[in-house]
Amino acid sequence: MGNYSKNFDVSEIECRCGCSQYRIEYRAMMILEKVRENFGVPFAPNCGCRCEAHNATIPGSSPTSGHIIGSAFDIPIKKGMSCDDLYNFLDNEMKGWGGVILHETFCHFDTKDRYYRKRLK
Ligand SMILES: [Zn+2]
Ligand SMILES: [Zn+2]
Repeated sequence: MGNYSKNFDVSEIECRCGCSQYRIEYRAMMILEKVRENFGVPFAPNCGCRCEAHNATIPGSSPTSGHIIGSAFDIPIKKGMSCDDLYNFLDNEMKGWGGVILHETFCHFDTKDRYYRKRLK
């Protein structure tokens, strides 16, 4: 049981660099909760919110990344979830809005309004 929301703890959402910064968009939180309820598999987002300094150390990350404002999270593909199911679930939850990118071991989503879909797997 989390102390931030039903299934998540602040330690799972805050920046991993140790600065304890966390921001999360309400819709992004709802999506994390829905994935948790739907698949019934506990997970912590691969990376929580990122402060700007930490984000800059991640190769390939954008300075305007949704990870900084807490609209983007990466959900690890755990045992008991298939990558197709996870991708389709997110695609369906954000019908016509938001971004979803399926990576090899995780699925990235972003609740900012810009629409995009990409499968790298
Ligand atoms: Zn930080
Ligand atoms: Zn991401």
